[in-house]
Amino acid sequence: EVRVRFAPSPTGPLHIGGVRTALYNYLFAHKMGGKFIVRIEDTDQARFVPGAEEYIKESLDWLDIQADESPWQPGETGPYRQSERKPDYMQYALDLVKKGHAYYAFDTPEDLEAMRERLTAARVVQPQYNNITRTQMKNSLTLPEDEVERRLASGEPYVIRVKIPRQEEVRLKDLIRGWVVVHTSTLDDKVLMKSDGMPTYHLANIVDDHLMGITHVIRGEEWLPSAPLHVLLYRYLGWENSMPEFAHLPLLLKPDGNGKLSKRDGDKLGFPVFPLDWKNQKDGSSAPGFREQGYLPEALLNFLAFLGWNPGDERELFTKEELIEAFSLERIGKSGTKFDIEKAKWYNEQYLKKMDNEVLAKYIIDDAKKDGFDISVELASAAASLNKERVTFPQELWEASKLLVIAPKTFDEKVATKRWNQDAIKVLNKYVEKLSGYHGVFNSETAKELLNSSAEIEEIKLGKVMQAVRLAVTGLGAGPDLMQVFSILGKEEVKNRINFALQ
Ligand code: GLU
Repeated sequence: EVRVRFAPSPTGPLHIGGVRTALYNYLFAHKMGGKFIVRIEDTDQARFVPGAEEYIKESLDWLDIQADESPWQPGETGPYRQSERKPDYMQYALDLVKKGHAYYAFDTPEDLEAMRERLTAARVVQPQYNNITRTQMKNSLTLPEDEVERRLASGEPYVIRVKIPRQEEVRLKDLIRGWVVVHTSTLDDKVLMKSDGMPTYHLANIVDDHLMGITHVIRGEEWLPSAPLHVLLYRYLGWENSMPEFAHLPLLLKPDGNGKLSKRDGDKLGFPVFPLDWKNQKDGSSAPGFREQGYLPEALLNFLAFLGWNPGDERELFTKEELIEAFSLERIGKSGTKFDIEKAKWYNEQYLKKMDNEVLAKYIIDDAKKDGFDISVELASAAASLNKERVTFPQELWEASKLLVIAPKTFDEKVATKRWNQDAIKVLNKYVEKLSGYHGVFNSETAKELLNSSAEIEEIKLGKVMQAVRLAVTGLGAGPDLMQVFSILGKEEVKNRINFALQ
């Protein structure tokens, strides 16, 4: 059975790239009839941010990316928070020490800093604790055995580091990038257990993936450099036969394609990079979220699915079920994907215009109330129908609908100067007369017929005065379908507004 996991660290708000990782895991799991697991990787206590886990949960809930097993709905391979598995990790680290694949290191922060300075002075580009430098440091590979025993017994702080072999090639097959070959001389002796007794990400990640029966690791490309170490750890722990397959997702790039998408890009260019508003910013401010900006979860999901994947044909609009059906890891691209917020807006527009008028009416009613207007469901629904193809976000509907509720007191000057003339006044006067004498059904068709015949009688081309008619009734030079506006306003209101404009 396929088992995949999304393993965020609660170090802040979930980035939109993280949501995409969650989505791809979810889609793959469902496509394969497997399980999607959420695991919280909270072993780095220094970077732990209160509220971040709740934020992750709420974001996934909002987008309806539901896990089969998670801290909030545990299955049988828990715990689903790494901190709760703390007592288990040491035995694996000790097992590695016993097998000679890991060692104790007693270096103080000053020792490490001195090494870094020494190497920097010697023009080493990337100073590392590795198979060369470790020979000069304080660890169980360099110190006499009895001294190591003494230091451990006296409770001296230590870490456990992996012993990277000196001359080996690590090969791994990534499902997206193909074969990746890394020489161990480029790897460092990463810490596996920290002095506080917590495992690092690397050890905890491997132990958890193993114990949770993970079959595929689908995660961001930023983790590709760690993958060779992970392969070595699987090997050293004796789990190589059940090692998961890897799929590293392409980076999300800045809109101009220059480098990785960051929160700063969003701040600078005015778009959110988080799913929800995040109120726990260090400076007390809040970072904007897609939800609060009016993105619809289905639209955002559809947009995210296409950030790195495509179905191989021209289709762009997919429900979640259709995404599951169409999804495959083979169709994920290798190169980074530009984050195009205009595309996200386009998706929102497509989903917004398909929404029920009654659902959108609620936004209009609520927003109108804030401005002191009580609007009926009928009117709000009609307004939604009129305007939903003209806006990007539901919050824009009330603004667009105001012309149905508030008669204009002023008229767009520029349009008036160009379009308000004797012809327009003649046609409008005739129209008022026609409306007064008309007692049939008033809808957009009859409103149009009456207007047509008014223009005909005056022998004036309707096209020439149409903008003036709009100006008279709405105060504006442009807007939604005018005859539908008339039909919603009703005959009397149209007449009153024209009369006011003619004064
Ligand atoms: N905790 C890691 C993160 O925050 C997970 C990486 C992985 O999926 O292995 O991205």
